Amino acid sequence: MNKVPNDWRKYVISPAILTKEIPVLNSGFIQLKDIMPYPETIPGDLAIINAARTSYDGSSKGIAADIKLLGYLFDNKHTTPFEMVEFKFLVNAPLVVWWQWVRHRTMSYNAKSGRYTEFKEDDFYIPSEWRLQATDNKQASDGVLGESDNIALMWDLEKHYRRSFELYEMAVVRGVAREQARLFLPGFSMYYTWVVKVDAHNLMHFLKLRMHDHAQEEIRLYASAIFDHFFVPALPFTAEKFKEKILAQDGYSKYRINGLNGDGF
Ligand SMILES: Cc1cc2nc3c(=O)[nH]c(=O)nc-3n(C[C@H](O)[C@H](O)[C@H](O)COP(=O)(O)OP(=O)(O)OC[C@H]3O[C@@H](n4cnc5c(N)ncnc54)[C@H](O)[C@@H]3O)c2cc1C
Repeated sequence: MNKVPNDWRKYVISPAILTKEIPVLNSGFIQLKDIMPYPETIPGDLAIINAARTSYDGSSKGIAADIKLLGYLFDNKHTTPFEMVEFKFLVNAPLVVWWQWVRHRTMSYNAKSGRYTEFKEDDFYIPSEWRLQATDNKQASDGVLGESDNIALMWDLEKHYRRSFELYEMAVVRGVAREQARLFLPGFSMYYTWVVKVDAHNLMHFLKLRMHDHAQEEIRLYASAIFDHFFVPALPFTAEKFKEKILAQDGYSKYRINGLNGDGF
């Protein structure tokens, strides 16, 4: 703690951040497994400031000047200091989220293998409502299905899952390798588990794209869970500048944040 100036001490990352499991969707979750700087060492924002000031052998100039420097880094796209903070998450999410997430090439991943472990009966994503296809945007949804159709489609989905899982289990019982038996399972909706490591700069890029209303609602929920429950507590001043300098440019209302769809600030 002695490297931390007095005015920064209350912003040291709390160890509680490593014990949170944030539920997402019907049975998914996200946990923070590790973070650099480690809790109770130095504040995450200060790790960024210190890295930036290395450029000219400097250190903290007091919290107000340091926060101003964070803004300067954003304004001038001086991005490497933000890479000095790293997050490692454990994510449990439907495969549809995995396929969108894994497109982010600046993250490091390791995923559960359906070749080594069997899938479980409740490993399926059941949405709480069915969104309607938007008419003005091929990649978007708009509004939700009426209640009776909603319930009927939920039943159909559960029936489909149960039948798929029966076929999967029958194949496993017949001795079919798990790597092939899984062909019976619905590809977009199985829950999948992975660890992913990313630095704060590339995480902000992910959050900007995936909290946005152009992204699919399911991945938006994971991205906003990261922002609200891990990014803001770990990097409160960077998070403020990120909102002000990056998200505000596109209009806050486009972002899912604070658990809300738009205007969550
Ligand atoms: C709303 C939305 C819709 C999408 N629709 C589709 C779709 O229909 N089909 C589809 O295939 N994908 C789609 N994507 C995925 C999208 O094209 C990107 O692959 C994904 O968002 C990752 O973005 P990225 O490459 O910027 O991120 P990262 O892979 O994390 O890369 C971060 C940055 O690093 C740099 N970078 C990384 N790798 C390279 C490289 N090899 N060469 C040069 N620069 C590099 C780039 O500056 C990049 O922006 C969609 C994404 C969004 C958000």
